Amino acid sequence: MNNHLIFQKIINKEIPSNILYQDKIVTAFEDINPKAPIHILIIPNCFIKTPNDINANNKNIVAHMFYTAVQIAKEKKISKDGYKIVVNCNENGGQEINYLHMHLLGGVKLKTLY
Ligand code: AMP
Repeated sequence: MNNHLIFQKIINKEIPSNILYQDKIVTAFEDINPKAPIHILIIPNCFIKTPNDINANNKNIVAHMFYTAVQIAKEKKISKDGYKIVVNCNENGGQEINYLHMHLLGGVKLKTLY
């Protein structure tokens, strides 16, 4: 499915979204259907389809995604109470958009998944 184009259009500001942070490597924006008071998606600016596509050449991008998520959590003042960072992979993992993304969820006590 070509739904990864949605996220590419958000990066390029071709469709509206609430971008909280953007640099040369990543873009962070509010999830359109938030599952928590704070629900932000962090994506790489260059296309990576799923976690399976992380490799030796792009693994530093993923570190920067993680770093960005933590910085936003601190800015949103949820770091002390805590938060979840979730990455879904393919069908069993519940990945609906075929573009690697990190969910930053917080602002409420979240249920554990396991
Ligand atoms: P996942 O199930 O891990 O693939 O999560 C995809 C996420 O993308 C869901 O939480 C959606 O609400 C979110 N989403 C889909 N389209 C948009 C959009 N246009 N702007 C912001 N978030 C979106």
